[in-house]
Amino acid sequence: MAQISVSSPADFHVHLRQGKLAALVTPHVRKGGFSLAYIMPNLKPPVTTTAQALAYKAELEAIDPTVEYMMTLYLSPDLTPDEIVKAKEAGIAGVKSYPRGVTTNSDGGIESYEMYYPVFEAMQRVDMVLNLHGEVPSDSTTNTHVLNAEERFLPHLLSLHKAFPRLRIVLEHATTRAAVSAVKACGPTVACTITAHHLALTVDDWAGQSFNFCKPVAKYPDDRAALREVIKEAHPRFFLGSDSAPHPAQSKSTSTPAQGCAAGIYTSPILLPLVAQLLDSFGALNRLDGFVSTFGRRFYGRDLDIPQKTQVILRQTEKHFVEENYSGDGETVVPFWAGKEICWEIVDRH
Ligand SMILES: [Zn+2]
Repeated sequence: MAQISVSSPADFHVHLRQGKLAALVTPHVRKGGFSLAYIMPNLKPPVTTTAQALAYKAELEAIDPTVEYMMTLYLSPDLTPDEIVKAKEAGIAGVKSYPRGVTTNSDGGIESYEMYYPVFEAMQRVDMVLNLHGEVPSDSTTNTHVLNAEERFLPHLLSLHKAFPRLRIVLEHATTRAAVSAVKACGPTVACTITAHHLALTVDDWAGQSFNFCKPVAKYPDDRAALREVIKEAHPRFFLGSDSAPHPAQSKSTSTPAQGCAAGIYTSPILLPLVAQLLDSFGALNRLDGFVSTFGRRFYGRDLDIPQKTQVILRQTEKHFVEENYSGDGETVVPFWAGKEICWEIVDRH
């Protein structure tokens, strides 16, 4: 049976939530094979200050101190250039921008970027990363909807890059061929994360299947092919950000005429085996280390010296199935690929 070793896997986009749900899902980062997690700030209330981010980091470290947590702030009108300087000094890595109302807890998100230029100027100066949820809000008057929301966001990415060429920007969870092309066309300061689930799903998989529903939605087979191709060619500005986003099982499985199901796919507990399986399925297993570790670490300046390196060893296996759910203290979450066979497992780390 085949065996493969990965050095210090890093997930550059994770949601670890709060309270009991955080207690359940935070240990799954390590369970899924990862030793670094880049943490999203869309809590209730959102993480908008350095003090909040440091308090949240301490909470996560209390749950599992073996993982390195890189923290982010939520872009909102409350964020000032002074706070950016403070955040940088405290080791906070980035600022996440959500378009208003597009995804979980994004009601405080942005409507237009010009008002944030002083903040971006400060970020560029101190070298903090801008993480973009790259979708514009749906609008029937302009025929904007979930399938073209990402493509219509791309002009914003290009104009931000033009206005702030030294600002490091990450287009998060790309789902389209257009997004891959746009990021490729940018300079070395612009990178892109790709999730595991967008390497697996297309439109047909989430229409009528609430557990495969997330934002941005998975697009057409040709879009998925573009995500796979850019990994196969080992482009160093495209790397893993799982966007693993746990929701209580009830809010995923239930929709009513008044309320749709929650958007988000939960991959943390199976992440590294899943990514290995998916890359293997399209002939890119030899790109695993770059995609899940080296490329992202390099972009974020988290390259590892040899003594700090951990090796995670995966082995190909048979008759191994993903858990139907994980529960603890009254919370239950259902992972992606639940009940399905997975052909890789973690056997060792050192
Ligand atoms: Zn996310």
